[in-house]
Amino acid sequence: MPCNHNSSTVVKFINLTRRTEIGANSYYVEIGRHRLVLDCGMHPKNTGEDALPNLKTIADREIEAILISHAHQDHIGTLPVAMRRFPGARVLMLEATAEVGNVLLHNSVNVMTRQREEIGEMSYPLFTHREVDRAWERWRRCPLRQRISIAGERTPQRERDALTFEFFDAGHVLGSAGILLRAEDKTVFYTGDVNFDDQTIMQSALFPEERIDILIMECTRGDHAKPPGWTRAGEERRLAEALGSAFERGACVLIPVFALGKTQELVAMLYKFRRQRLLPEFPIYIGGLSSKFTDIYDRRAHMTRRQLPRLQLMREAAPFILNDETVRDAPVRAGRIYVLSSGMMIPKTLSNVFARRLIENPQHSIFFVGYANPESPAGLLRDAGRGSEVALDPDKPAQRVLCNIEQFQFSAHGTREALVEYAKRVSPKKILLVHGDPPAVEWMRTTLSAHLPASDVILPAPGMELDL
Ligand SMILES: [Zn+2]
Ligand SMILES: [Zn+2]
Repeated sequence: MPCNHNSSTVVKFINLTRRTEIGANSYYVEIGRHRLVLDCGMHPKNTGEDALPNLKTIADREIEAILISHAHQDHIGTLPVAMRRFPGARVLMLEATAEVGNVLLHNSVNVMTRQREEIGEMSYPLFTHREVDRAWERWRRCPLRQRISIAGERTPQRERDALTFEFFDAGHVLGSAGILLRAEDKTVFYTGDVNFDDQTIMQSALFPEERIDILIMECTRGDHAKPPGWTRAGEERRLAEALGSAFERGACVLIPVFALGKTQELVAMLYKFRRQRLLPEFPIYIGGLSSKFTDIYDRRAHMTRRQLPRLQLMREAAPFILNDETVRDAPVRAGRIYVLSSGMMIPKTLSNVFARRLIENPQHSIFFVGYANPESPAGLLRDAGRGSEVALDPDKPAQRVLCNIEQFQFSAHGTREALVEYAKRVSPKKILLVHGDPPAVEWMRTTLSAHLPASDVILPAPGMELDL
């Protein structure tokens, strides 16, 4: 049947994230008769109702499928809640994301159960271990780069209103994907979290280069210009040198990181430093949750598109493992590196507890290596000058910052320059900017409007239905 150029598929969009921020990321997309949800995150810092996406906005709609871009908390953290609200929805993600997501959600049940006591949040846990197990059984594991119908069939029929999706490697963390939705006369591409540069383990994203009608794009680094002359190799050298001088000073070094992604990147980098004999022998410490994710990186090494495909981190970098108890009394000794989560140093996490043992001592160092919300404990500490007071945990007294603090740029997110270049290559009719703090999305909006005058650049206000 010849296609009818007058007809066009209607696309609707609702930003279900409660504010313009990197929070409980979630988006409703309607394409023709298909109603979908992209990602279902949990806010990394807020608690209770405020930690959830605004699912009430779409409560009366029948959701056909929920697609998950990757297994970071801010993208998958409330998936069991969404599955309870939309029991008929098919849940689709990459196999690696299913494997990591299962571990993450079980850990989240433990964290919420503890928080119920600590902060008196009576709605916690939002779901139970049994519910996570049952949810996990219902997830449909998909391969990369295969066109699949939204009904889950590998060879989609050529129905007039057939909709397909395809996962593209996003180069951000293990199992991260961009999601391309193709309707008969419209394409919608959601970047998820993306990196267009190689990291130590992850290779740069391989995204669609075809023309895209609607691009839903992350903006994490929109408010940071790429520093002139920055290269990852140069930054690695700078880190090795900083570790060397810290060791000479008799320091132990804490590096707060996300358990998934940044931990494995850092441990691989430290392994390289040892191999290259850039530093004297040093022990590495990581947390229990991080070690579970590292096991998955190792198990999947041979089937992942990555650098150092033969490197088995747990065996060859051989990190020691700390838990909630041992992190309180592990001796703070010179020449040790603690690569601990959480990256934002949320109270009661390993990095927060350990940092409180270091910050009043000028001998020791804390190195920041990635994104932290400016109001999170990591953001506060990073921006505090030496000698100022910081309260890393509201339940504990503030402390004077006397330790050495340094910052390095090993972001798992694309530079804003690379995001703009990508948008220029696929020249979308509409660009929706998501997953960024207000200054970040604002810079992206101004810059993209200037570079792509024919594109409609939109900041989707939370909860507002857009007709695209
Ligand atoms: Zn992410
Ligand atoms: Zn994210």
